[in-house]
Amino acid sequence: MPMYVVGHKIPDSDSICGAIALAYLKNQIGEPAVATRLGEVSPETAFILDKFGFEAPEFKESYAGEEVYIVDHSELTQAPDDIAEATIVGIVDHHKLGDLTTSTPLECWIRPVGCSNTVIKMMYDFYKVEIPANIAGIMMCAILSDTVIFKSPTCTTADIKCVEALAEIAGVEDFKALGMDMFKVKSAVEGTPVRDLVMRDFKDFNMNGNLVGIGQLEVIDLSVFDQIKADLEADIAALKEEGKRHSVILLLTDIMKEGSELLVVSDDVSKIEAAYGKATENGRVWLDGVLSRKKQVVPPLQDAFA
Ligand code: MG
Ligand code: MG
Ligand code: MG
Repeated sequence: MPMYVVGHKIPDSDSICGAIALAYLKNQIGEPAVATRLGEVSPETAFILDKFGFEAPEFKESYAGEEVYIVDHSELTQAPDDIAEATIVGIVDHHKLGDLTTSTPLECWIRPVGCSNTVIKMMYDFYKVEIPANIAGIMMCAILSDTVIFKSPTCTTADIKCVEALAEIAGVEDFKALGMDMFKVKSAVEGTPVRDLVMRDFKDFNMNGNLVGIGQLEVIDLSVFDQIKADLEADIAALKEEGKRHSVILLLTDIMKEGSELLVVSDDVSKIEAAYGKATENGRVWLDGVLSRKKQVVPPLQDAFA
């Protein structure tokens, strides 16, 4: 019976590319593994897979009775719904330690770096397994995506060195140009249903017993949202009610200006204002220098709820 290698719900490029890369590594060291996914791939991920000749991993929601290797998270809210009935054999991640627990020993590869694929590269080095060019390509793209082409405060020298090494293996000369191409794909929001945009990179967090949903859209120029901002706001308000959430925040991140506008709906907006030390105006606030949900948005809010 193979283990299933799966990233978080609403998978991003790190979750999908990481599952493929880690499943390949596991198979190379004699541990049968199959990459799976918990949701649709994003346009950015589709672009990456297409570029390097991969199909999306198999969609699989239920893991009861199976062995699972978790990628790019350790949070119950982001894991398969029936994860409690599965055996978690390992976790590779780069987020804060979440609330997944196990009843058997597991391997953990968790490092404070910019991307799970950077940690997976360390695993390849540890097991002395050669990385095929196409797998190197998708790993590199995942790191460029998660680190916002090295601009994110989550980016470390390990991520940069890793991208340089992977670019060499993949035969990609101008990786920054490829990174910009990815973000151009990400910035094409026209014609996409508003709910799809809100949910494109959306995560729920349990903050001291309160469900808080935080979505993020990273684009090259925030003006792409000018015509649809009111619709986005109406939709996050609906999403808050539907999911009985305390708050929903949508980060509109401008990767060139290097900051984010937050659209906020909340039962208690003062929590959010306290977290970021800035007043909202009609449910909006611009936070200069804020690019990372994981490092700059979640921790202060967690503290505000504590
Ligand atoms: Mg992720
Ligand atoms: Mg990641
Ligand atoms: Mg991200």
